[in-house]
Amino acid sequence: MTNIHPIHDRIVQRSEREATNGHRAGVVWLTGLSGSGKSTIAAAVERELFSASHFVVLLDGDNVRTGLCGDLGFSLEDRKENIRRIAETAKLFVAAGAQVLCSFVSPTREIRSMAKNIIGADDFYEVFVNTPLEVCEARDVKGLYVKARAGEIKGFTGIDSPYEAPESPFLDLKTADQTVEASAGEVVLAIRDQLALQR
Ligand code: ADP
Repeated sequence: MTNIHPIHDRIVQRSEREATNGHRAGVVWLTGLSGSGKSTIAAAVERELFSASHFVVLLDGDNVRTGLCGDLGFSLEDRKENIRRIAETAKLFVAAGAQVLCSFVSPTREIRSMAKNIIGADDFYEVFVNTPLEVCEARDVKGLYVKARAGEIKGFTGIDSPYEAPESPFLDLKTADQTVEASAGEVVLAIRDQLALQR
């Protein structure tokens, strides 16, 4: 009984994967209102890291809500289950050595704290895409604010469902007077130091 998990010595370790990739793994968790810029920034960051040959993965509503979480709606309970599955998925990718970009409104501190606990505090980098409601509403990328104001969508974050801003995010990104490139550049700069192999 010297080793109860003999296979453990044989499986490829995260540290081996990180050494091969040339960077550390981790999760960049972008939170903010609808239209704040999460998906746009995440896509730009993904492109930049991919160009630098990083193993990078983007999780957002588009690729999660259709399959993995296709059975879930937008009740508080479903929102929690949605984030729980996403966080577990992100954790698997971290074990595989990836830099994971998660782009989700994730409106409450409780929900984000659950994600952080699942992923592990050391691997969780919270980015607050800090765009005022007025700016998000003026952008109204998907026409959702107009519908929410008209009462056609109930429980819309920022209108009739609360958004709790992070208290001490890893990065507080104020996008209102910034180009997409500048916002993405700020994220890349911040995580480049944190996720570099040597620090
Ligand atoms: P979210 O994913 O948070 O719902 P989106 O990324 O879909 O938001 O939409 C954000 C919109 O705001 C896009 O049309 C984008 O071009 C625009 N935008 C303007 N400035 C910025 C910025 N600095 N960062 C991100 N998006 C910006």
